[in-house]
Amino acid sequence: MNPFSFERAETIAGAVNAIAKNDRARFIAGGTNLLDLMKENVSRPAQLIDITRLPLGRIEETGDGGLRIGALVTNADTAYDERVQQRYPLLSKAILAGASAQLRNMATTGGNLLQRTRCYYFYDTATPCNKREPGSGCGALEGFNRIHAILGTSDKCIATHPSDMCVALAALGATVRVTGPDGERTLPFSGFHRLPGETPELDTNLRPEELITAVDLPAKGFATHHAYLKIRDRQSYAFALVSVAAALDLDGGHIREARLALGGVAHKPWRDTEAEAMLSGKPATVENFRSVAEALVRDAKGFGHNTFKIELAKRAVVRALAQATGMEQPS
Ligand SMILES: Cc1cc2nc3c(=O)[nH]c(=O)nc-3n(C[C@H](O)[C@H](O)[C@H](O)COP(=O)(O)OP(=O)(O)OC[C@H]3O[C@@H](n4cnc5c(N)ncnc54)[C@H](O)[C@@H]3O)c2cc1C
Ligand code: SF4
Repeated sequence: MNPFSFERAETIAGAVNAIAKNDRARFIAGGTNLLDLMKENVSRPAQLIDITRLPLGRIEETGDGGLRIGALVTNADTAYDERVQQRYPLLSKAILAGASAQLRNMATTGGNLLQRTRCYYFYDTATPCNKREPGSGCGALEGFNRIHAILGTSDKCIATHPSDMCVALAALGATVRVTGPDGERTLPFSGFHRLPGETPELDTNLRPEELITAVDLPAKGFATHHAYLKIRDRQSYAFALVSVAAALDLDGGHIREARLALGGVAHKPWRDTEAEAMLSGKPATVENFRSVAEALVRDAKGFGHNTFKIELAKRAVVRALAQATGMEQPS
């Protein structure tokens, strides 16, 4: 690990001022991702700004019937919060499908949004990686790319975003609240993470000197008909190969509104609003779910080891939608 200085921020303004003063400074919250990256020499901050004392550790009601989850609320506290479990069970289930109990006790809302890809080449400093070192190349394109992306890729990077929680937040249509030197702003969840394009080193549209303060959930929580399906190599403690957050508003057997987001397939949580629109007003049948799944992967591209994910994603979408309606599992 490289030497670094350490400072503890006591106020939000103090944290933002401290990061703005040093372009090699980084915030640290639970530390469950950043410290690993520092130990592997992937991240080399000169200064850590500990934000764990900031007043961002609460879940509160918003004026419009939603919930505001502070950036420092742990993943465990969010998942087990009674209001989240009752009104946003999709979010609770997605969080509990990720990591381990110990990690969820440390991991925070803000840190989960900013956790970095699990691409093996990104972690291995002996290999080229455009995300770690822009312009150096991509070890995964021609390498072992079993866990990599099939949607929204570029010839610079095919990494996936690893979070489970963010897939549910994308489906629910959350909003990210941030504070920077110029004050506060909000970003819709769909505009928070980025596709790799020509700049895979940038994971999000957060500015370097900005602090995430909270994530707002809208009033509608799709509490009755939802499913979070995570397909992984082993039952626990593994990142998703493919995951699906499905949420339906049903009127009898008809779909009034649908939400569909996928994890493990792209550089960002992949919410597909066209697929959602295809479901609206339709009967909730396996046949319709299959048509939507086909459309969703129409532009998918495999890179050899990960080509199986195209079929896997299709089947996972159908199964998740079926689970959300409570119907028997499709064969
Ligand atoms: C073995 C292992 C297995 C895991 N399995 C899963 C899994 O299956 N699913 C899953 O979703 N996750 C998984 N995780 C990842 C885990 O969820 C993340 O490491 C965690 O959510 C990061 O949160 P943190 O608070 O510890 O972040 P930190 O490590 O403290 O920070 C991560 C990044 O966020 C920045 N940051 C933190 N807070 C803020 C803020 N408020 N504003 C601006 N920047 C901020 C930091 O500067 C840093 O760049 C796993 C992790 C490990 C180690
Ligand atoms: S896929 Fe992205 S993160 Fe992985 S090696 Fe290529 S550039 Fe790096």
